[in-house]
Amino acid sequence: MEKIGKTKEVAKGIYQIEIPTPFPVGPVNVYLLEGAYLTLVDTGPLTEEAWQTLNQGVRDIGYKVKDIRQVVLTHHHPDHCGLLERVRQVSGAFTYSHPLAIPYVKIDDSFMNFQAKFFNRLYYECGVPEESLIIINEFNDLSMSYTERSHIDECLKHDQALPHFPDWHVLFTPGHSQSQLSLYRADDRVMISGDHIIKHISSNALIEPPPNPSSKRPLSLIQYRTSLEMCANMEIDIIFSGHGAPVINHRDLILQRLLENWKRTDTIRGLLKESEKTVYELTTMLFPNVYQKELTLPISETLGHIDLLQILHQLEVKQRNEVLYYSL
Ligand SMILES: [Zn+2]
Ligand SMILES: [Zn+2]
Repeated sequence: MEKIGKTKEVAKGIYQIEIPTPFPVGPVNVYLLEGAYLTLVDTGPLTEEAWQTLNQGVRDIGYKVKDIRQVVLTHHHPDHCGLLERVRQVSGAFTYSHPLAIPYVKIDDSFMNFQAKFFNRLYYECGVPEESLIIINEFNDLSMSYTERSHIDECLKHDQALPHFPDWHVLFTPGHSQSQLSLYRADDRVMISGDHIIKHISSNALIEPPPNPSSKRPLSLIQYRTSLEMCANMEIDIIFSGHGAPVINHRDLILQRLLENWKRTDTIRGLLKESEKTVYELTTMLFPNVYQKELTLPISETLGHIDLLQILHQLEVKQRNEVLYYSL
C-alpha cells in the first residue's frame, strides 16, 4: 500500500496531496493548482501531522506554503478546512468559499447557538434518547477541535470562473453539505468534487440547519440527488475527489448511488410494515453496528430517505409529545 502523504500531478497543473485525518473516513485529498496564482483547494484538518504533511506535499511540488496566493474550500467540514487559518497566517492567501460556509468558518457564535437548538429539536423529533444525545454532542465537540476560527475574503457564485483561472468554473453541488461546491475545467473535462462524488463510499447527505431560523430545513438527500443528476448531464472525463481514488465512469457511479437510495427506501418501507417507528428506531435497525459511534451520520441517512418517501406521499406521519412516528 502506498503511504499517506503522497503527492502527485494528477492532471495538467493539478497536484494532489494526500493528508491524514483523525476521522474514520481516512485521508483527505487537497489539490494545488498551478497558474498565475498558486491555489490550494481545501487544506486538511487542524492537526500537527496534517500540517507537516501539507508543508511537505507543497515542497515536493517545488513551492512553499507561503507561496499560496489563494485558497478555495469545497465545503466547510473540518477535514477540508481545519488548516485554513494556518495557511492564511503563513501565506496571506485570499480565501474563497460557498457563502453558506461562512458561519462555520467564522465559528459564528449566534449561528452555532442556532445550530445547537436546531439539532436538539430535530433529534427530539427523531426520538433520540437522552444518553445518545450525549454521545452526539461529544462527537460534535471532538470534530470541532480539528478546526479553528478563520476568515473567508470572498464568496463564490455558481457558474463563475475561478478567480485568476478563467478555464476553471465553480459549480454549486449541495447535498453532502449545504456549502458544497465543485470545480470544473471544460478544456480537459476535469472536475474537483470535494465530497460530492466519492468512488469508494456513498457520500452522506448530511442534515444541516437552514441558513437562518426563519427558513425550513434543507432536504439534503433530495438536493444531493439533484446535484448528482446535474453532474450526470455533464461531460466529465475524470473526477478528483476529497477522499480516495479518482472517478472515471461518473455516470455509472451516479446511477449506482441513485439506485442505492431506492433500495434503502424499500428496506424502510419493509420495516414500517409491522408498526410505526421513529427515525431513531429505524436508524438502530438499519445500522445495528455503527449507530452508537457516530449517530449524526446514520440519522442523516435515515432522515434523508424518510424525506424522499414523504415527498412522494408514501408515508404517514403522526406527532405525539413532539416526537414524529412514521407509518405506511
Ligand atoms: Zn464533507
Ligand atoms: Zn471529507
